Amino acid sequence: MFSIYLDNNATTKMATPVIEACIEEMYHGASNPSSIHTPGRAAKSRLIKARDLVAGYFNVASKKVIFTSGATEALNMILRGMKKRLVGKHIITSNVEHAAVYQTLLALEQEGVEVTYLPAGHKGYISQSQVEEVYKPTTQLIILMAVNNETGVITPIESIGKWAKDKKIPFIVDATAAIGKISPFLLKEASAFVCSAHKFHGPKGIGAVILQENLILEPQITGGYQEYSLRAGTENLVGIIGFAKAIELIDEKNFLTIKQLRDYFESQLISLIPNLYINGEGPRVCNTSNLSFLGEEGEVLLMKLDLEGIYASHGSACSSGSLEPSRVLMNMELGKARVLSALRFSFSRYSTIQEIELTIQKLQKILCLSNTK
Ligand code: PMP
Repeated sequence: MFSIYLDNNATTKMATPVIEACIEEMYHGASNPSSIHTPGRAAKSRLIKARDLVAGYFNVASKKVIFTSGATEALNMILRGMKKRLVGKHIITSNVEHAAVYQTLLALEQEGVEVTYLPAGHKGYISQSQVEEVYKPTTQLIILMAVNNETGVITPIESIGKWAKDKKIPFIVDATAAIGKISPFLLKEASAFVCSAHKFHGPKGIGAVILQENLILEPQITGGYQEYSLRAGTENLVGIIGFAKAIELIDEKNFLTIKQLRDYFESQLISLIPNLYINGEGPRVCNTSNLSFLGEEGEVLLMKLDLEGIYASHGSACSSGSLEPSRVLMNMELGKARVLSALRFSFSRYSTIQEIELTIQKLQKILCLSNTK
């Protein structure tokens, strides 16, 4: 069936070489990397090769790559793993973080951690001066997203990271919406960052913590010695192999092409649709377009697009399905009308100009606009 997938911030399709690498791994037959017999040792060497590849991309030692089931687990591993250090102390974050951070911090608050949720406002990101303003001697952690998954807005993590380093405060970065859209070089000031492979054409259910500084983490999953004793359990080798292949396929040359498509999409819509607003005034990654069609109902628009075979989103996937307005957009103080009329279109390296043209045409049809301005 005809379809145009414009929801790449929710998840991306697996690249064909990733699927092939995963299938090849599945055909290796029974082999546990912890077994000392020949097939076990072969699995271990495939695991080491994949870990080395990921570590090489992020320019860290291999033992600094801790595979998890995704970014949610990775964030929990860090935040809950540091709990002893954090109880009675202070954390700085933003009010536009993903639920994986937000809900975990709410839980930590119940256990005696103080959290400041800095307001991102219309611009959609936290500036270094905002962090500096709320810093106090008890501040023990800063956690911020590199890129907002709903708006694509980029946080100035390099400068905040440098400042945090000076103050000797661990700086954790949720890079889930950033990997495959910004250079990993921009993450170099983070004490640790996390990612999830399905956001960059890898498989679901595999992610990682990348440690760039020594953080003392208490393991949340105990058992065997896998993942340097930080995450017990037999490794998801198929996922890890797919993750490494997806990393190998990231090509920064695509960023510009995707940005050109996104910018064209927005400029066309702006010229055709009155009362159209781009949400997030800060600098944005190449692939995300969060637009409010003021006067329209986002949910209705989304369903009409769906009937045309065009798949976008309204708020983040984790909160859609409920009619609650997006917490992130509400916290950006855009007002309920703008939030309820917001749709997110997110592109990938597989998006084409034909798809963009067709989406613009269908939107015009749905909104009953004529071709002439
Ligand atoms: N952080 C951000 C910014 C995200 O976009 C997501 C996924 N929507 C997550 C964390 C959680 O990732 P996962 O569901 O793969 O664990």
